[in-house]
Amino acid sequence: MPYADPLVRKEYEVKYYIEKKKDSKWVEKKREKTRDYHYKNKEKRNAYGRKYYYENREKFRKWYQGRADEWNLSRRELTLQLRKEVLEKLGNKCLKCGYSEDWRALQVDHINGGGGEERRKINTINLYKKVLKEGSLYYQLLCANCNWIKKYEQNEVK
Ligand SMILES: [Zn+2]
Repeated sequence: MPYADPLVRKEYEVKYYIEKKKDSKWVEKKREKTRDYHYKNKEKRNAYGRKYYYENREKFRKWYQGRADEWNLSRRELTLQLRKEVLEKLGNKCLKCGYSEDWRALQVDHINGGGGEERRKINTINLYKKVLKEGSLYYQLLCANCNWIKKYEQNEVK
């Protein structure tokens, strides 16, 4: 049993491939076969990719976390940028009392209510994009005070 030892076998295989690689016809044929195989097994490979991701998701998560700070910074910048545009679009002041001194105290309010539910469904960036698209038909600006009062009046406070 010459190949029972995996090291010996490996050595044999390496020698075999080195020899075979000199034969350009063999190389071309093998390349074609590989291409064919990949093409025919697209589904299988995709499934393998998903499985690989699933089994290594800890690794992926670490990789993601390593970059999260970077990404969050640009996300924060994007959020701020969008928020500015949203405030601009909705008039830059509280629709109820006219407060406009500090933009940080101005909040986007869903005119017909349901804002809380919406906030659970989509993130801030997407909400702002939605507001920019749908505009003052569905959204208005309220200052934090007026917004809380409205929430109590409409029984949205839990
Ligand atoms: Zn107000």
